[in-house]
Amino acid sequence: MANAIPSDADERRGVVPVVCYETSRLPTLDLPAMQAGLADATVVDRVVAPPRDAACFRVPAGHYFRIVNPNGHQVGDLNLWSADNLEERFYSGKTRQLQASHITTGDHVWSNMPHLNPLATVVHDSLAWYGIDEYGGSVHDVIGTRCDPYTNYRLRGEDYHYCCHSNLTRALASHLGVSVEDAEPHVHDVINVFMCTGFTLDTHQYFMKATPARAGDSISFFAHKALLGVLSACPGGNCGSSHSDDATPCFPLEVEVLEPASPVAIATDTRLTGRYVGGHGAG
Ligand SMILES: [Zn+2]
Repeated sequence: MANAIPSDADERRGVVPVVCYETSRLPTLDLPAMQAGLADATVVDRVVAPPRDAACFRVPAGHYFRIVNPNGHQVGDLNLWSADNLEERFYSGKTRQLQASHITTGDHVWSNMPHLNPLATVVHDSLAWYGIDEYGGSVHDVIGTRCDPYTNYRLRGEDYHYCCHSNLTRALASHLGVSVEDAEPHVHDVINVFMCTGFTLDTHQYFMKATPARAGDSISFFAHKALLGVLSACPGGNCGSSHSDDATPCFPLEVEVLEPASPVAIATDTRLTGRYVGGHGAG
């Protein structure tokens, strides 16, 4: 027989939560050194993600990439892989747990298991001032997935080909010289740059609101490994009303790749240079 509602239900709900993963226990990296390296870094490559489309870029290890919002009214969906091994890619779930639901200066973006490496670190975020608003919303989320034609079909019964999932797939296929069918399985949950999102306080449903970004806002990352990135300029534009359609004005985003004037030395730690022995206790 199922348990009845307990008489001490309020007490059970009132238990104080504890943070699952203490950020203070993560291996330390020298953020000031990474920020100093960005200050005198030189732009060595620049790509533009056109509206409702995506662009690929490569970042050597120890370089930076900066995503710039020239207009301000635009959000982007970002995928990242280890350039040397596409099986190692950005892992939104563990980044969310290790860092937060929205990332900003000082946060690392982590790769999937069995790697679980910091792929990159946010070294500058011009939207760091936004913080967390009264709705629980914030920017640069790692909780959403990416707008996609499959969900759109379920919700609207229509085919739309310029969702971020499709934009990322087309751009990756073109960059790698493979079919969209071969490229699609590599596309994964994204970093929603500039997007302002959260969960509704009453029903915990995923919400979006117009990005607070202004013209010239940017977010900059230090690459710990050689990276392949793809950025989609979301068909949702500022994501203040709709997405997965042609209704909202949409603008380009830019990615700059920057080389530091001299190599950036960051602290290393065996927890970063080594990894779990493997085996999972079997045999
Ligand atoms: Zn999108």
